[in-house]
Amino acid sequence: MLYFAIIIVIVISFTLYRRRRRRMLTQVILTDVQKLLLTKNIDYYNQLSDLDKAYFEDKIEQFLDDVRIEGVGLQVTDLDRLMVASSAVIPIFRFKDWRYRNITNVLLYPDTFDEDYQYEATEDRNIMGMVGSGYMNGQMILSRNALIKGFSKNPGMENTAIHEFVHLIDKADGAIDGVPEGFLPFEYIKPWVRMMHQEIHKIESGHSDINPYATTNEAEFFAVVSEYFFEKPDQFQTRHPELYDMLSRIFGQDPAQG
Ligand SMILES: [Zn+2]
Repeated sequence: MLYFAIIIVIVISFTLYRRRRRRMLTQVILTDVQKLLLTKNIDYYNQLSDLDKAYFEDKIEQFLDDVRIEGVGLQVTDLDRLMVASSAVIPIFRFKDWRYRNITNVLLYPDTFDEDYQYEATEDRNIMGMVGSGYMNGQMILSRNALIKGFSKNPGMENTAIHEFVHLIDKADGAIDGVPEGFLPFEYIKPWVRMMHQEIHKIESGHSDINPYATTNEAEFFAVVSEYFFEKPDQFQTRHPELYDMLSRIFGQDPAQG
């Protein structure tokens, strides 16, 4: 009986200790209402096991601690924040301690915006999202309409916010060039570049269902196929098995069901 009591005390103190430790680790703690918003709006989260859901929540909290999300001409809602953070977490979900070190702010615009900013060769589709360079370094700009559309219940192959975070993953090695060097073993780099060029050629000749925006350059190719990979993994795997395998290696994930 005494042993039993001791064990219970140990378990309770350990649980309390973990909760306290978690509170010390992040300022932001998701409320039940916010978790419900994730459940209702983020399919990726919904498909996770309970354990992985908790891990996803941790990563969201950590991201919201690190990065400020500000509205320009709009009031940022909880759902906006959670969608931005989810877009950041989804591609790096399987990397335990990975953090975005090249972003401090996300500016949300109501809709598409024009080109009064300095940016790298990553300007997107007149313009739903961009990652800044020069004096805009560390900033990302997103159209809220595009953000919400990316998580709509009837997903296409597009998710602008994931696209922009993939540019930041690409940028982690210093260059936005379509080759995320830290994510791909050296021996895969050449095959990956070859694969990109082959597929760009197919798109140009009308023999691919990948969004033609991918032909802009390798960086856009990588970001566009990553959207497809996370939005329609089954279809992407069926139609582009080699690209699927390579992205699966890069992101450490296998999101297709079958
Ligand atoms: Zn882009």
